[in-house]
Amino acid sequence: MRLCFFFILIHTIIFSQERCASESYRNILKSKNSYNEPFIDTKSKSKVFDQFNVPIVFHVIYNNNSENISDENILSQLEVLNNDYNAENNDFLNIPGVFTDVASSSGIRFCLAEIDPFGNLTSGITRNFTDQQFFNMSEDKMKKSSEGGVDPWDTEKYLNIWICNLSGNLLGFSTYPGSDSSLDGVVIDYNYIGINLESSSPYNLGRTATHEIGHYFGLEHTFYAGCSDWDDCDDTPAISTSTFGCPDFPQESCGTIDMTMNFMDYTNDACMHMFTICQTEKMIDVLLSQRSDLLENNYCYYNKILENNSSKVLLNRIDLLGRNFNSYGFYIEIFDDGTVNKKVRLN
Ligand SMILES: [Zn+2]
Repeated sequence: MRLCFFFILIHTIIFSQERCASESYRNILKSKNSYNEPFIDTKSKSKVFDQFNVPIVFHVIYNNNSENISDENILSQLEVLNNDYNAENNDFLNIPGVFTDVASSSGIRFCLAEIDPFGNLTSGITRNFTDQQFFNMSEDKMKKSSEGGVDPWDTEKYLNIWICNLSGNLLGFSTYPGSDSSLDGVVIDYNYIGINLESSSPYNLGRTATHEIGHYFGLEHTFYAGCSDWDDCDDTPAISTSTFGCPDFPQESCGTIDMTMNFMDYTNDACMHMFTICQTEKMIDVLLSQRSDLLENNYCYYNKILENNSSKVLLNRIDLLGRNFNSYGFYIEIFDDGTVNKKVRLN
C-alpha cells in the first residue's frame, strides 16, 4: 500500500506539469476562427547551405521580482536556441547511432531584435509590470496591453516571445503558421526560460523554447496521432504516446525504436537532442513561405555585420573521414584561422 502511494506520488510529481499546450491552443484558435490551415510551399531543397537570421523580441511581463527574469537568463535562452537549431548543442553527441544519419541542422539563427517597430534601437527585450498574478492560455491577455499584457510587435517581422506567469503548471505554448497575426508567437512561463542550473526542475535547460519554436515553424509532436504517425515526417518513427522523464535507450512502440530524444517529444530538457532532416526542411519551408517577412529586414543587422566582417576564409569542407565533402550528412568546415564548424547538410 505504501509502495503504491509512493508510485502515485512520483507519478503526480512527474506529470503534474504540462509540457506543452500548442495543440490545445490551436483547437481554441480554430473554434474562434483565428486559425486557417496554411499553404506551405516547398523550397528547402535548394537552401541547404543557407543561414537564416530570425529576430526575436522577448516581452517580460512581471508581477513580482522573480518573474522579472534577468537579461543573462534571456541571453542563455538565445544561445540554447542557436545551438539546438544548428546541431551545435553539446548533447548532439548523445544521439544514438541508429538516428545519427537523420539528425540535422536547420541553419536558422536567432538574434535579439535591434530595431523596434518605430525604427528605434532596442535591446530586443521589453519589460512591463502587470497587475495580473497569472495568465490563462485561453484568454490571450498576455498578448494584449489593454488587459495587463503586451501587444505584439509586428508578428510578420518579429518572432514575439511572451514570458509571464502561466496559470496551472503549463510550461509554454505556441501558435502554428496560419494563426491570427495579433496572437502569433510563443508564450513561456518565466520559470522555464534559458538555463537555470540552480533549479531542480527537469525543464531547466531552455528546451521549452526550442520545442515551442518548432511548432511556430510548423512542426507537430513526434507522437501526434500515435502509431498512425501523422507528424508528416518519415524520419521520425511512429511513437505511441508522449515520453516523459529520461527513458533508457532503446524504447520501442508501434513496431519501431522510439526517437524519444527528438525536440518535439516531451522528455526532460537534458534528454532531448535533435531535429531530423525532414523536420528542418519543414521549418525552412514554413520560414520561406509563411514567415518570409522575418527575413526581410535588418533587425539582425549587427549580427550580419559581425558575420560579414569576419576575416576568416573557408578552406575546405570535409566529411568525418577527412574526405572532400560533396554529399549530405555530417561535415566539418575548416577555416584559415584554425577554427572549425561542425555542420549537417540536408539531403
Ligand atoms: Zn508541443
